[in-house]
Amino acid sequence: MSLRAFTTAKDLHVAGGIREPMRSAGTSSLRNWLRSDLSASEVPWLAASVTTLFRSGPPGSKITVAVVGDGFGPQDQDAYNTAVDRLLTDGVFAHDFFARNRTAFNLERVNLVSLESGVGTKTYDADGNVVRQVDRDTALGAYYNGDWAHLWVEDGPSTDARLTAALSELVPEHQLKLVVLNNPGFGGCGGNWRATVPLGIGWPTLAHEFGHAMGRLGDEYHERDETYGGTEPTVPNLTTNTDRETLKWGWTVGAETPLPTGGDDCTPPKPSGWDDNQDVGLFEGGGGSYRLGVYRPVVNCRMRENHPDFCPVCAKAMAEAVAPHLANAPLIGVGPGDTTATLSEGDGTGYVRLVVRLERGTLRVLEARELDGPFVRTGLVTQGFAHEVRIGDRRVALGSLPDAGVSRGFSEIGTDGPREHIVHRPDALDFVVRVASAELRGADLSELTVDLVSVEAGRGDALGEVPLREDPALDVTPIASLADVSVADLPPSLRRIVEPE
Ligand SMILES: [Zn+2]
Repeated sequence: MSLRAFTTAKDLHVAGGIREPMRSAGTSSLRNWLRSDLSASEVPWLAASVTTLFRSGPPGSKITVAVVGDGFGPQDQDAYNTAVDRLLTDGVFAHDFFARNRTAFNLERVNLVSLESGVGTKTYDADGNVVRQVDRDTALGAYYNGDWAHLWVEDGPSTDARLTAALSELVPEHQLKLVVLNNPGFGGCGGNWRATVPLGIGWPTLAHEFGHAMGRLGDEYHERDETYGGTEPTVPNLTTNTDRETLKWGWTVGAETPLPTGGDDCTPPKPSGWDDNQDVGLFEGGGGSYRLGVYRPVVNCRMRENHPDFCPVCAKAMAEAVAPHLANAPLIGVGPGDTTATLSEGDGTGYVRLVVRLERGTLRVLEARELDGPFVRTGLVTQGFAHEVRIGDRRVALGSLPDAGVSRGFSEIGTDGPREHIVHRPDALDFVVRVASAELRGADLSELTVDLVSVEAGRGDALGEVPLREDPALDVTPIASLADVSVADLPPSLRRIVEPE
């Protein structure tokens, strides 16, 4: 991204933009309570506003989806709004699982008005070199490359900082970020609670991606002829186990259903009258590449071909993920021994939302803000990355990061049929931590620790009080820790919470 956009946009900062001055990045410690690397004089959009498309409850208690457009100029705002409706309001949230569970979600549309219409483009040759690049002065400076091997879309050098700055101001509490690019092409990529899509995809593809993001679901398709030789997959909807007694989705397999139930060549043939989406058995092929050696629950599922609804096994995992956020979820007053979640009312002063970044093995707080209202405090971790915040002997925050550490290019729908996701591992990983303000009030910050771990096995349904990394019920690998915080390091807003007058 050239500096030109910053220069031309310099004096165009309008209502809804960034109000507070920001500091620049520094060393890896809590000293960096910065909200963004973007300064107030560098806001690169003509105007910014937010529209609530639907709200089911306080943002901290829901999975709040924030949609942001890039490359939509003043004349393109209606087209952007239409695209958001097509993909989400009338798409994902009007069908199947997401329609049935809409009360777990809020949907906020952010209109960033770009200087130019259409996003920049890059063209790669077979060796991965950029042979043609067109830059555009757009709000986020993202690019469309239209190349499966390059995840179809990509950020510019300041896209992430600009997105963070916009959302920090306009939708300070959000779980899922969706960036819509003004380019008619097909593609998109997702991971780490964010997806980026051009205009040429449909809502079913997005619903499939939300399956990865929320349910930590695996792909049930296979686009290669490979044989899986690994250990039992940790995702809930793939297995190598053909034993009826120990099969992880045995709860939904009929006693008469043969196991395995059939492969793509239907040997053995599936039972007569079989519902390909809802009848569960053991079907060989899945995980993106493997025709053999790994099994999926049904013939066809949203995690296989995008269009059908989730199969019962995927639906159960998704239901567990959204349950704490549903309208009628039994949240308030749930005790610590319960396995799902508690809705923390704190003492009426809300909670502190931290964005923490793991980069080069070090944790750093990117953003900290106190927000009003209740929030969902989870009481379990599942396999994959998880975080824990403790103050001395007390656990004050805990959570799983189901979609962390990956960037997944969408599968291709073309004349050759879909291709598997291509997966990149980004250098940095951001995660959100929510702590009740009451927990921080008067706390001895020298006893505060933030741990990021990888849970390899086990399931912490009723976690004890020992630190996650020492829990004998879990197979845990520590990733990084943050400690040794002093009050003097905090910005005034947080100092007031920790040390009230
Ligand atoms: Zn499924």
